Amino acid sequence: MAAVTGHHLLQPPSPFFTKIKTSHSITKLAFSATHSKLNSKVFPNFTPSSTVPFCSSSSAQTNLPEKPTVLGLLDYLNESWTQFHATAEAKRQLIGAGFELLNEKDEWQLKPGGRYFFTRNMSSLVAFAIGDMYAPGNGFHVIAAHTDSPCLKLKPKSASAKSQYLMVNVQTYGGGLWHTWFDRDLSVAGRVIIRDRENSFLHKLVKVERPLLRIPSLAIHLDRKVNTEGFKPNLETHLIPLLATKVQEMCPDPNEKNTASSSKAAHHSLLMQVLSDELSCNIEDIVSIELNVCDTQPSCLGGGNNEFIFSGRLDNLASSYCALRALIDSCQSSNDLSNELAIRMVALFDNEEVGSGSVQGAGAPTMFEAMRRIIRCLGHNKVEEGATERAIQQSFLVSADMAHGVHPNFMDKHEEHHRPEMRKGLVIKHNANQRYATSGITAFLFKEVGKLHNLPTQ
Ligand SMILES: [Zn+2]
Repeated sequence: MAAVTGHHLLQPPSPFFTKIKTSHSITKLAFSATHSKLNSKVFPNFTPSSTVPFCSSSSAQTNLPEKPTVLGLLDYLNESWTQFHATAEAKRQLIGAGFELLNEKDEWQLKPGGRYFFTRNMSSLVAFAIGDMYAPGNGFHVIAAHTDSPCLKLKPKSASAKSQYLMVNVQTYGGGLWHTWFDRDLSVAGRVIIRDRENSFLHKLVKVERPLLRIPSLAIHLDRKVNTEGFKPNLETHLIPLLATKVQEMCPDPNEKNTASSSKAAHHSLLMQVLSDELSCNIEDIVSIELNVCDTQPSCLGGGNNEFIFSGRLDNLASSYCALRALIDSCQSSNDLSNELAIRMVALFDNEEVGSGSVQGAGAPTMFEAMRRIIRCLGHNKVEEGATERAIQQSFLVSADMAHGVHPNFMDKHEEHHRPEMRKGLVIKHNANQRYATSGITAFLFKEVGKLHNLPTQ
């Protein structure tokens, strides 16, 4: 659960790109969502969430400045069941806003005033807009966030059966609160590779929107101590979703047709049938799948004042969406970049939940490689002495993620003087052991930018 604020979410969150002009460091910023009353004034045309179909199709146009940002965020959350979908939706919005898609494998042609982006692994993305006044050595103003969230992922061989049930083997991804995955209407989404023509393959995203899986809790009658001794599921044996009962006619021998990997019978034929129906292809043509287990319950607004966002994946799609909107909205019109000296950048990484150490994670040199290429390209390959190093020193990166707002039922879990409180503004995280790179200087700069735009910080 998080809450929204009139300032942060109802207005285009763009000031960062226009005001910060200095410095050289990295600050860990957290959006502890603050809040505010949502009423007809701040929410023009607002209708209760229960009646709003917050599906992406309703927001097919990308740039709707009159649309309250929180509704755009809900659309983004509902669209982005997986890191792949979050990236695809970001890509769609960037293209809609006139950003040009680059390929890391190609030679780039960039120019001041241009807006560009590229994706890596279909699950991470770097977008940037070059100021018209850019000169080699000028800095980058970056917001970095992540596209992944803790979830269950299908094992390479997911087919299993127990008693009269067909089950789907999963592994945990990231540090999740796994008991919350029980008793929910679950499904699958992710990326599949499909045989297109002979020796030709393509990848597609898939999302099965209907409840397909469920992990039932054990009945109270069979576990009388659960309320006093706690629910401690064994993640290998108790956290296995049910797909179906064994109905032979619906489930032909998986060994016969299952082709979703080189291993035979890696996945239940029934699951493969559902996927092929979604993708309008033959089961035999699905050669690889990479699926997350997802909650089908839509993200929505809730609470007495409709001020809370009830949703999974807020960490860190909320920051991803705000960063994206900040970049898009800050260069909406043709002259928005006319006085800009710097390069505005957003980096959305995958695999933050498991340490970022992947090709598409923040541990990879993706962003720095892009910076080097941009500098070289804009310098027409005659890069002046130290242009890259000077640019880095002139840059400022906000590492945007969520903070835990104080839980009213567990107040003692928060250090008394550092409880992120609702209605108190954006959270700037500090850590003496440098888990966050916030320094006195970067925190000061961030607060000053906030002040200029009446954005409280805590
Ligand atoms: Zn996070």
